[in-house]
Amino acid sequence: MELKNIKGIGIQIEHKLNSLNIYNVEDLLNFYPYKYNFINLQNIENVEDDSNVMIKAIVVESAKVQYIKRNFNRLVFKALANETLLSVTIFNRAFLKANLTIGKPVVLVGKYHSLKKQFVASDIKFNIDNNRIEPVYHLVEGLTNNNLIKIMAEALTYDCVRDTIPQIYKEKYHFDDKKMALKLIHQPQSEADIRKASAQLKYEELFVFMFKINYLRKINNKALGIMRKVKPKCKNDFLTKLPFCLTSDQLTAMDNIYEDLTKENRMNRLILGDVGSGKTIVSTFAMYINFLSGYQSALMAPTEILAEQHYKSIKPLLEKFEMNVSLLTGSMKKREKKLILDSLKSGKIDLIIGTHALLSEGVEFKNLGLVVTDEQHRFGVDQRNKLRDKGNVPDVLYLSATPIPRTYALTIYGDLDLSIIKTKPKGRREIITEVKKETEIKDVLYKMLEELKLGHQIYVVSPLIENNEEGDLKSVVALQEKLNLAFNNKVTIGLLHGKLKANEKEQIMQDFKNNKIKILISTTVIEVGIDVPNSTIIVIYNAERFGLATLHQLRGRVGRNDLQSYCYLISNKDVKRLKVLEESNDGFYISEKDFEMRGQGDLFGVRQSGELNFKIANLKDDYDILLKAKDDSKEYIDENKYLEDKNYQEIVSSITFIN
Ligand code: ADP
Ligand code: MG
Repeated sequence: MELKNIKGIGIQIEHKLNSLNIYNVEDLLNFYPYKYNFINLQNIENVEDDSNVMIKAIVVESAKVQYIKRNFNRLVFKALANETLLSVTIFNRAFLKANLTIGKPVVLVGKYHSLKKQFVASDIKFNIDNNRIEPVYHLVEGLTNNNLIKIMAEALTYDCVRDTIPQIYKEKYHFDDKKMALKLIHQPQSEADIRKASAQLKYEELFVFMFKINYLRKINNKALGIMRKVKPKCKNDFLTKLPFCLTSDQLTAMDNIYEDLTKENRMNRLILGDVGSGKTIVSTFAMYINFLSGYQSALMAPTEILAEQHYKSIKPLLEKFEMNVSLLTGSMKKREKKLILDSLKSGKIDLIIGTHALLSEGVEFKNLGLVVTDEQHRFGVDQRNKLRDKGNVPDVLYLSATPIPRTYALTIYGDLDLSIIKTKPKGRREIITEVKKETEIKDVLYKMLEELKLGHQIYVVSPLIENNEEGDLKSVVALQEKLNLAFNNKVTIGLLHGKLKANEKEQIMQDFKNNKIKILISTTVIEVGIDVPNSTIIVIYNAERFGLATLHQLRGRVGRNDLQSYCYLISNKDVKRLKVLEESNDGFYISEKDFEMRGQGDLFGVRQSGELNFKIANLKDDYDILLKAKDDSKEYIDENKYLEDKNYQEIVSSITFIN
């Protein structure tokens, strides 16, 4: 149903609602309050001085406005609360004067001084009799909370929101119908109403989410793939050609992959491991097995720089096994490209490394058997899909450097098999991390100078201060000037910001990699996985604005060889969670802490952000509900009940394109 059908929504309000991502009445009703004000009326005789109270009163003397100075006024009037005559004062609400007529019942919100019989109000409400709990919504300018309350009341009279909790689970948990739950969440009469309705709406949201994941799992489990006949000895052949010993987690991941690739089902595995834990080498083993059995592999990275980096590190290794490795990027010359495309089609190339360019129409394989996707969350679901269409049933391996607690991984990645790499390669130094106030910046600058003298490089990250590109640019330029001043203009500083075009960004990154730029200032988050081993310091301004997991990933830009590296978190706020980074270099530990402290924390962006953008549920606080939703939705699928459910047939048709 369209928004304009609702009384009270004109073209202006409609635009405001659109900017809150509300486009129809269903969206509107699914826009839940983020908190509630409990309007607890008290008796004037019992209230304590100086505590925040709410009392009912009647205006007995009309209001006068007193102008104190420019932009500052005071409204005063007398009101009767029970038997007590009050002098009421409220600041900067001159516009309420016309409403405060003699005999008018009001609710005064504020503080009472019993000796002087004075009430200093922070708010005055005129109509709260039938709504003692006031929902509070996120707003945009020009849209008031009262607007939303009124519009919501009107919208609630319609029945236009899909109820996706299957009947059996509704009975199991004694849930209401959807219309009732919505009424309770928007117009609760008691705390119990809110608890009841939110439990139901959370369950529904998580049920649909887990249904999709369990459904994908079921399809994946059934999908037949290539059954490779490769001897177990290949593992040793591979290991002996490596310049280092693998960690035990790396070896286990290799075993997992060997099993996957040699059985009849299609591989659908995620390798989850901290930055620098050595996921690439493990995925290279998969490509090697795939090659031994006569198939081509594709490795996709999110940017050209990352693709080139992979190419440079993987090619020398795989050439030892006589594998033909090529790189394909969008910026290549036409002739060069054509040559590669032809050899890909004829089967001359065993492994192609690239970016999204690998997905374009003109790319054909002779027999694609394996797709490896690095930093998988950066690819949209349908992009992933396109590449998989290029082979018959290629096996799929995802690599992700965003560590999340295992329990959560098992749910949100429930459609994939998991290999977790926790152990770090031997001999890695911990990155020394310190939280600093801006007043202590001299210490940091001194350390920077020391490292620059040693020929090392530095990242400086400054988050978007204002929410626009102009502000973005301004903040990095100001920082650049500060650093130029500090280092007497003697150091080449590069700037990465939102106004640059993609190729300009790549150029700056290349210059940094080639050591032409010594300090790189950036607002956008530096690519996960970018490898400039010569950089030994990362300075992160306004660190409190980032989640711990993001900070940890940023920190992973340094400490990439045997040089001692440093991370400085600059924050003027006393943020306890930043201390976690001082304490630990372990991404899994940090993500546990992040979860404890911030709820789902940085999980957004782990899968596609949209997929985890819950309206009411929260993975941490609602973990128990998540587990129920997980089991119930699995049962719903396993017992084929979803086949007769129109809602779920629709949901299934919206997700099947992935496979
Ligand atoms: P990530 O998991 O972040 O993708 P990489 O695979 O890029 O990490 O590995 C980081 C670096 O560590 C690479 O230079 C790689 O060759 C090296 N490496 C990987 N495994 C080991 C190991 N077991 N021992 C020593 N170095 C290793
Ligand atoms: Mg990597």
